[in-house]
Amino acid sequence: MKLMTMWKDALESLVSSPATEKYPFQRLDAPDQLRSQLHWNLEKCTGCALCAKDCPADAIEIIVLDKKAKRFVFRYHIDRCTFCGQCVESCRQGCLQMANDEWELAALSKQGFDVYYGDDADVQSVLVGTTPPELEAAAD
Ligand code: SF4
Ligand code: SF4
Repeated sequence: MKLMTMWKDALESLVSSPATEKYPFQRLDAPDQLRSQLHWNLEKCTGCALCAKDCPADAIEIIVLDKKAKRFVFRYHIDRCTFCGQCVESCRQGCLQMANDEWELAALSKQGFDVYYGDDADVQSVLVGTTPPELEAAAD
């Protein structure tokens, strides 16, 4: 009896289409509600750092270069992020959004897991560990 069932299953499998998807050759659209990579809007940010404080995974750093001039750099440790969405809820300015279609986040080097948002020159100065010249001059 068991042998018959086995043969029946084997024959059914031969004629039915595979249950698996042909990823990565075929990609299905991500559900609208999927939480994938976090994005930050500099324009609205006040630098309050509530998002970083509330993040349970310590995945956010707000680097303040000049609070008055709204010179912030947002460092996102995507490898620590659990995609819980708490930061999006916590930000009262609505600066944070989670994309629903950026979920293929594997990388070959660790550098790919540190994402920087902000003005290009400010990000560059954070990366090389210097203060932007105009801020240095203002501090003198
Ligand atoms: S909570 Fe919002 S406004 Fe405050 S630092 Fe984070 S992103 Fe900026
Ligand atoms: S989604 Fe959750 S884990 Fe990821 S940065 Fe926001 S608060 Fe942190």
